[in-house]
Amino acid sequence: MSKKILVTGGAGFIGSHLCEKLLNEGNEVICVDNFFTGSKKNVTHLLDNNNFELIRHDIVFPIFLEVDEIYNFACPASPVHYQFNPIKTMKTSVLGAMNMLGMAKRVKAKILQASTSEVYGDPDVHPQPESYKGNVNTIGIRSCYDEGKRCSETLFFDYNREHKVKIKVIRIFNTYGPKMHPQDGRVVSNFIVQALTNRDITVYGKGDQTRSFCYVSDLVDGIVKMMNSRDGFLGPVNLGNPCEFTILELAKKVIEFTGSKSKIIYNELPQDDPKQRQPIIDLAKKELNWEPKVPLNEGLKKTIEYFDKVLKETK
Ligand code: NAD
Ligand code: UDP
Repeated sequence: MSKKILVTGGAGFIGSHLCEKLLNEGNEVICVDNFFTGSKKNVTHLLDNNNFELIRHDIVFPIFLEVDEIYNFACPASPVHYQFNPIKTMKTSVLGAMNMLGMAKRVKAKILQASTSEVYGDPDVHPQPESYKGNVNTIGIRSCYDEGKRCSETLFFDYNREHKVKIKVIRIFNTYGPKMHPQDGRVVSNFIVQALTNRDITVYGKGDQTRSFCYVSDLVDGIVKMMNSRDGFLGPVNLGNPCEFTILELAKKVIEFTGSKSKIIYNELPQDDPKQRQPIIDLAKKELNWEPKVPLNEGLKKTIEYFDKVLKETK
């Protein structure tokens, strides 16, 4: 049955893939975005679709819409961008969540929160299960994002307990793919753009820190499965690819797959940069019958193809 669905942050990297999938499944989609890190370009191809509506709006301020479901994705996700205006990042996570939860309460919509592996901070339990409570600095440069997202999880569960709002919470691990912004600042887009333009590949620290990279199509499948999961299952649930790589391994793969002449340079490691990240996804497998299918090599090649095209178009 067709639903009316709001996607906040729908013009961003993940949000735009999500809008596309929800439209393809026959739903009406309203995309709300303030275009801070997202771009109209990510959704231009959807504008002709009568079931799609794009609204420029900042979720820090209330908005009144009638919808059946809300995917709350608005929030800058790259450290460079969420640290640009940390107070605004906190407002987006906290006030934005309250505004969306208020709407969900009023119109009795089901609401899904895009939380993050950042709630685990610099984890001293590895790999990370949902039951791990995290090791987060409350006053560091990443705290605006980490603590903002932790607070939004709290709000979601309190709205559920207090007002019976139907909630779903996912914790997303590093996701990459087409439609990341070339200047996004995150590691996959940085390395690919650097390699394709034969500039130095900037590894922070020694490159021995690890991340587990999930291709965007896999993630979006998991997101929609979570929204449609059984009533009693609220999460939080980890969504990510458990294949773990060091950042140096990633740099070498990107150089190999692009055939680039770039050389690797080592820059200072940013404060509080987590040393390791790997999701345990047993809960997602059990509850959602979900696991990622796209291995890093395949996803990287598709992402390289995308950036190659984008860079040629903007030359
Ligand atoms: P992104 O920066 O591409 O997308 C975020 C979108 O939100 C952008 O379109 C931006 O313009 C919009 N936005 C930001 N603040 C807003 C505000 N106040 N009001 C309205 N719109 C606003 O990032 P992404 O990678 O697509 O991430 C989307 C969501 O997923 C974020 O909530 C992020 O925290 C979460 N997440 C992403 C990852 C990842 O690896 N990509 C990992 C964990 C969590
Ligand atoms: N990183 C890097 N070079 C870059 C960008 C990032 O070495 O040009 C590292 C960063 O220090 C971190 C990892 O890559 O250890 C992932 O960074 P990203 O910004 O993608 O996301 P995070 O998982 O840290 O939020």
